[in-house]
Amino acid sequence: MTLHVVIPEESQALPFTVEPSGAQVASKEIPERIHEILAGLLDGGAVAAPLGADGLARAERLVGAVHDKELLDHLRHGVPEGAESVLDSAFAGPGLEQETPVTRGVWPAALGAAAAAVRAAELTARHGENSYALVRPPGHHAGPGWYGGYCFVNNAVVAARTLQEEGVSRVGILDVDYHLGNGTLALVQGDPTVPFASVHSSDPKDFPYVFEPGPGLFGVRSDPTREGFLALVADALAHLRRENAAALVVSVGYDVLAGDPHGSWTLAPEVFGPVAALIAEQRLPTVFVQEGGYGLPSLRGAARALALEAS
Ligand SMILES: [Zn+2]
Repeated sequence: MTLHVVIPEESQALPFTVEPSGAQVASKEIPERIHEILAGLLDGGAVAAPLGADGLARAERLVGAVHDKELLDHLRHGVPEGAESVLDSAFAGPGLEQETPVTRGVWPAALGAAAAAVRAAELTARHGENSYALVRPPGHHAGPGWYGGYCFVNNAVVAARTLQEEGVSRVGILDVDYHLGNGTLALVQGDPTVPFASVHSSDPKDFPYVFEPGPGLFGVRSDPTREGFLALVADALAHLRRENAAALVVSVGYDVLAGDPHGSWTLAPEVFGPVAALIAEQRLPTVFVQEGGYGLPSLRGAARALALEAS
């Protein structure tokens, strides 16, 4: 099995985010994340794949099918003349204050990430092999008409819709980021062809702060043990199997690891080996999509452990 890694053209870091206190802080969603993860994936046996020439057009069409036109217009044209960025709460997720600015570079970066997700899904659908869309910005907090939490366009849902266009009837989305993928949840809720399962922190101090129970949602209130975390990943995969998923999209977040500035758990990077092994046991074509993971020292080892099992 080959794990194909697709990477969009490098985009700049967001200049800042706004904390609940109102303070502006430097963004931790930076290009160095991708450099570390790529080194780990290649070290673990993954192979870099070209982006492909027609990816942007297909991505733009699919992004238009997933998200509201008003949101996409805002990402494209929302920054006023003479300004560097805009922070518009009209496009914040339900119950949330907007903390992620839109800058002029956001639209090409978000579309480039979506195009990499499309390409990864094409490779998996057409060759039956695993793929990894190593993208930033991430996407799982982007909902139908909102963005936030560093996310603008939902790359995981775009990958799932690509797989469906390529002939896969039911695509399960497994989200193992520290944070609940509230955007993904809102986009696929009620659609039996895209079952969703997530293991995440449901501590109310963690984004997106409100956690409703639901099928496939495995929230954890406090730091899980390695065995506890892996048991929940197994439960989430069992949920997707019961829903007859014929392929998987995995939203990968390394912010579950010890030392992450946006997480509070203490899992070691090597946990992504058994996580990937549980996924491989499903024997389903799998597209990994990069979400969070901001603790630079842990990224390379985690990605290597994943690739060793997924390649
Ligand atoms: Zn996260």
